[in-house]
Amino acid sequence: MMRWGLIGASSIAENHVIGAMRELGGDIRLVASSNPERAAAFARANHIPRATTDIGAAVSDAGIDAVYISSTNEKHFAQAMAAIAAGKHVLCEKPLAMTLAEAVEMVRAAEGAGVTFATNHHLRCSGSHRTIRDLIAAGRIGRVLSLRLFHAVHLPDSLRGWRITDPGAGGGVIPDITVHDADVARFLLGEEPQTVVAQMCASGLGQGVEDSAMSVWTMPSGAMVMSHESFTHPFAGSGLEVHGTEGSILATGVMTQQPVGEIALVTAAGRVAVPFSDHNLYVQGVSEFVAATAGNGRSAANGWDGVASLAVALAVREAARTGVRQTVSYGAAE
Ligand code: NDP
Repeated sequence: MMRWGLIGASSIAENHVIGAMRELGGDIRLVASSNPERAAAFARANHIPRATTDIGAAVSDAGIDAVYISSTNEKHFAQAMAAIAAGKHVLCEKPLAMTLAEAVEMVRAAEGAGVTFATNHHLRCSGSHRTIRDLIAAGRIGRVLSLRLFHAVHLPDSLRGWRITDPGAGGGVIPDITVHDADVARFLLGEEPQTVVAQMCASGLGQGVEDSAMSVWTMPSGAMVMSHESFTHPFAGSGLEVHGTEGSILATGVMTQQPVGEIALVTAAGRVAVPFSDHNLYVQGVSEFVAATAGNGRSAANGWDGVASLAVALAVREAARTGVRQTVSYGAAE
């Protein structure tokens, strides 16, 4: 049984990850927050026996095996490094850090300490994305020509805090959603984005950070990726399309935290609906992390996956800021 410490009294922990941990038999021993009242209220509401503001004591608590870090983005680095130094396994939220150098340092430190380090990229845990990846890998659409990612959503009122106002906390749609899209492209196509061009803007919610971005990426195979993220689109719906020489995969409603959506495969033979598993994305991700800590397989998205998704997002923001095409720098990753 995994004994967990939560670092961050966050919405994502409360709404998705705590339930996933408990469904898998995990025991959540403590929650650490920067604010004593919030820590206590979060612990009460979520039936967690201990609340603390002492992050150092939390991450080195002898009663826990792993931490889940879901604080705001600028805090991930120091918290992860402290947990790794204390010998704990780390499941860290995306983006892993504010800079590529920090993200690489976190992943290297975990390797050096012999602990499991994973990135909570939930989309690659979904039945829909895994089915699409399998269709591509089986050659069902031939050679992939392009991938279009539609991830322009409407940020709920409850999340309209640091995400839309605070660049210092890692706000902005690019660190928030483009990182996920980068992970999806890497996962589906099995290759690393090479160069990017991009535009970004604030279209109603962003104050000092972008709330919308569009970008185009090149891939080593020659495939092109088009990616759209936003916080301000109430009715756009999400989806992705993969177009190949022998067919297209059209998926609607699949860029979400829920196991929903539809997949159609269109080829010369016609259009067929493709079924997929409706398992919980977060249960899947946590389960693969827990298995990895026991030496069984790898996490759904490991640390280097988190480094790579951050690298793409940083390149997109730089391309949008400068108007100049960027070559994605993966740092000294892998
Ligand atoms: P929240 O804003 O809910 O929580 C982030 C931090 O903000 C908390 O750790 C807490 O700090 C602080 N906080 C929480 N409530 C309040 C409040 N009422 N007033 C002031 N501060 C508050 O963020 P999210 O849960 O949306 O995101 C947390 C992390 O998870 C981010 O890194 C994000 O990118 C990632 N994320 C990942 C998702 C995924 O599916 N993989 C989905 C959503 C988010 P403290 O801990 O110090 O109390």
